[in-house]
Amino acid sequence: MNYEKTFQEIYNELQNVEDFGHVADYIPELAHVDPNQFGVHLTTVDGKHYAFGDSEVRFSIQSIAKVFSFVLAYSRIKSDIWERMDLEPAGTPFNSLVQLEYDKGIPRNPFINAGAIVVCDILVDELASPKENMLAFIRSLLKNNAIDYNPIVAYSEKKSGFRNYALVNLMKSFGNIKNDIDKVMDLYFTICSIEMSCRELSESFLFLANNGVVPHSGEQILSPSRTKRTNALMQTCGFYDEAGQFTFKVGLPGKSGVGGGIVAVHPEKYSIAVWSPRLNKKGNSYKGILFLEEFTTKTKLSIF
Ligand code: GLN
Repeated sequence: MNYEKTFQEIYNELQNVEDFGHVADYIPELAHVDPNQFGVHLTTVDGKHYAFGDSEVRFSIQSIAKVFSFVLAYSRIKSDIWERMDLEPAGTPFNSLVQLEYDKGIPRNPFINAGAIVVCDILVDELASPKENMLAFIRSLLKNNAIDYNPIVAYSEKKSGFRNYALVNLMKSFGNIKNDIDKVMDLYFTICSIEMSCRELSESFLFLANNGVVPHSGEQILSPSRTKRTNALMQTCGFYDEAGQFTFKVGLPGKSGVGGGIVAVHPEKYSIAVWSPRLNKKGNSYKGILFLEEFTTKTKLSIF
């Protein structure tokens, strides 16, 4: 199957679709991105690569990083993380406060902001140098020491992250944040600021399509059972209040970020990353979702 030809075809079709999305500007630094960039990269579990467009350009992965931080916590932490967060779809926006009050400071899942902040609280407790350990973990998935945080983006979000501070304060009031709030939020904003390309994202997620084993190193990151569960969480919670739509249209477990990136995996087969910075109203890449919908429809490569 020549996926690059399929990528080109879908890209051409999407050229005729007006992009109604908007670049995320609530984090001021993200507003500077050229919105017309578009990239896609697919890596198969047996090591084949298919790329199109700006697939080597690094961008802010934002909430996609929640999968890395969750996996790091889930793989190394002995304590029961499900006492601190739930594993149900939220059905609310990624930064919503409403449900958190009803649920007494227990986030609905690890992929909404509140849940990812609790994961950061756990990592602050459990890791010697959380930022360095996190980066080393992602680099090990890739064999690439060049990926890094962007301190300007992290600082920009810190200065404008009022809702995230509201979330962490609310959870602290319920006793679900153990550490100093500034320490936890520094880790959260830093992790969100990681920059990666579609190629790097697709490669780094490959272990989730490979029963938890990183193909290039043979390292077992998660057991097959925990890999299945992580994919299940991405399927049900990876797109906030658009998780049902993404499942319906694309039919793959995946995760989005407000930088316009989406990564999705097909267990036993491939991992695909797409990037188009303009977001729909739910904060997910407008053309990214359309692209993946066309891709799994044309190739019949969804899990359903
Ligand atoms: N850092 C962003 C925030 O907390 C991540 C949100 C996202 O990518 N959906 O708002």
